[in-house]
Amino acid sequence: QINELDLLKTLDRDHVWHHLTPGAAARKGLPMFVRGEGLRLWDSEGREYLDASAGGVWVTNVGYGRTEIADAVREQLAQLNFFAGSMGNAPAAAFAEKLLDKMPGMSRVYYSNSGSEANEKAFKMVRQIAHKHHGGRKSKILYRERDYHGTTLAALSATGQAERRAQFGPFVPGFVEVPHCCEYRTQYPESNDYGIRAADAIEEVILREGPETVGAIILEPITAGGGIITPPEGYWPRVREICDRYDILLIMDEVVCGVGRTGKWFGYQHYPVQPDIVTMAKGLASGYAAISCTVTTERVFDLLQEEAGDTLGYFRDISTFGGCLAGPAAALANMKILEEEGLVENSQRMGEYLLAGLHALKEKHPVIGDVRGKGLFAGLELVQDRMTKTPVDESVAIAIAGACKQMGVLIGRTNRSFEGFNNILNFSPALTATAEQIDQILTTLDKAISQVCG
Ligand code: PMP
Repeated sequence: QINELDLLKTLDRDHVWHHLTPGAAARKGLPMFVRGEGLRLWDSEGREYLDASAGGVWVTNVGYGRTEIADAVREQLAQLNFFAGSMGNAPAAAFAEKLLDKMPGMSRVYYSNSGSEANEKAFKMVRQIAHKHHGGRKSKILYRERDYHGTTLAALSATGQAERRAQFGPFVPGFVEVPHCCEYRTQYPESNDYGIRAADAIEEVILREGPETVGAIILEPITAGGGIITPPEGYWPRVREICDRYDILLIMDEVVCGVGRTGKWFGYQHYPVQPDIVTMAKGLASGYAAISCTVTTERVFDLLQEEAGDTLGYFRDISTFGGCLAGPAAALANMKILEEEGLVENSQRMGEYLLAGLHALKEKHPVIGDVRGKGLFAGLELVQDRMTKTPVDESVAIAIAGACKQMGVLIGRTNRSFEGFNNILNFSPALTATAEQIDQILTTLDKAISQVCG
């Protein structure tokens, strides 16, 4: 007699094509998670884990098992589930107001379903503005080395991660790379104004390409998948200045950082910078529904409205499931939890505690070369030698993450991100994390590093 769970595991092994999983592992069969509550997950064997990765990819910001969100979604779907097109709906309007309240200067919200799609909308806005207002010329979009912007081909064409791009070319034309801004790996080790220099490196690319050909730049406020890279002092105001000088739109990809992850509502709000377009997904509804938003200023919206004698008209784009009301209903309930439980503040407070703990581990373990992050969004870079900063082999990062998992704690790590830099571990539990839970993460990590590195 085969029980239902064993049957499902067999079906999973034989038919489900898992993300990021080599075929050999999939053919052996993978464990299944069957339940979650708060930061805790249970697998099909009854083992308990503490999830310090927010669902593996920075999603479950309010934690697992939030029946308030499940109830809000169920109620909305029972009343009205879907309509896409030129009719309004209540949860979309109510959530837009809530969201814009956290984003002074921003004015319009375009709903879609994934981070990649939110970025595609931003790119299409830039391209249509180029056609309507600049005879098609200002169509190039700059992106930064090490940043990730999504899985679709244009979003991947805007991704500065060589390993992740490998084997998916040819890419969409009109995307141009600018240098990264990682202080630990600075291109100017002698300089004490790296932030300014890293921003000026963007201007060099603009001048090389011709400012009349460049419409926008997309950047992560703090680089996530490329290795938790916090920008250097002075970087953001200079980037804004350069964008203004050449009439270039600044797109901020808040897919990971947005909605509380870094200890402020949005990652860019740590810095004196105002974007023109902001994209977000992941923690927007903590994984209780698929929703993303492309948020713009009124100016960007106006640039895409019809004018007398204009043959191109308004923004010609649709996202079918941007009309699914599960998304805004879940996002509204998610935001209510963040506000009522003070989770953005908790992310800031517990984030400081986590970073202090990681710095203490750096004192103890020479393999830790650098500790970075903001809020409950922290990373550490593993090196063979602190002087040369040579990255450890990926197998070391895999072994440490594996040892943590063995001890019941799930952590994140860079994976096929940036050539040679699969040496960064990351720690981003749900924003409800308590000091005891952070202690469990740190103690486990300490043991894991000792086990693997001696
Ligand atoms: N932008 C960033 C910064 C991301 O990290 C991701 C996903 N890892 C995306 C965009 C793409 O989001 P999605 O997978 O929802 O399409």
